[in-house]
Amino acid sequence: MKRIFENNRKWVEQKLSEDKDYFRKLAQGQEPRYLFIGCSDSRVPANEITGTGPGEMFVHRNIANLVVHTDMNMLSVVQYAVEVLKVKVIIVCGHYGCGGVAAAAGNEQFGLIDNWLRNIKDVLRLHEAEILGIADEEARLRRLVELNVIEQVRNLSKTSVIQKAMQSDDPPKLYGLVYDLKEGYLKELQTG
Ligand code: ZN
Repeated sequence: MKRIFENNRKWVEQKLSEDKDYFRKLAQGQEPRYLFIGCSDSRVPANEITGTGPGEMFVHRNIANLVVHTDMNMLSVVQYAVEVLKVKVIIVCGHYGCGGVAAAAGNEQFGLIDNWLRNIKDVLRLHEAEILGIADEEARLRRLVELNVIEQVRNLSKTSVIQKAMQSDDPPKLYGLVYDLKEGYLKELQTG
């Protein structure tokens, strides 16, 4: 923990040296343009890979970036982001090499988390023919990562919050992205 506090102190000093009012301005409120729904994986830091700073992006992360209709945490984040913060863009971002997706594709048991990963098994079942038609295992998992994002964007579009927002003049736009851990690039998926 020592490292965490030292890094924090250095970061505060650096920010203040660039702008002495930095924290005072941020403390006045947030007006983020984006909501990011991503994986909890430590290699997918939302702000860092999108070059956004504090105040620009509202973030929700869970294992394998799932949008589950009974998840009160995620639904509350989406409602607050859309109705109060009025975000313009909602990004569901998956990533190649996702441990959650790989675990769901296998038959090994991991305990409690299996219930969560069950949602990805549904994606697998929905796209079984396509997935099983890919011979190479890595390519198969990469495609499952993509299909998982596409299905989660679909789930998101069906939430009551988004359905209601779609009736307004300026509804948020939904995007499905996949992040490539090996190269660092974000790719947009066709989700429509
Ligand atoms: Zn992941």
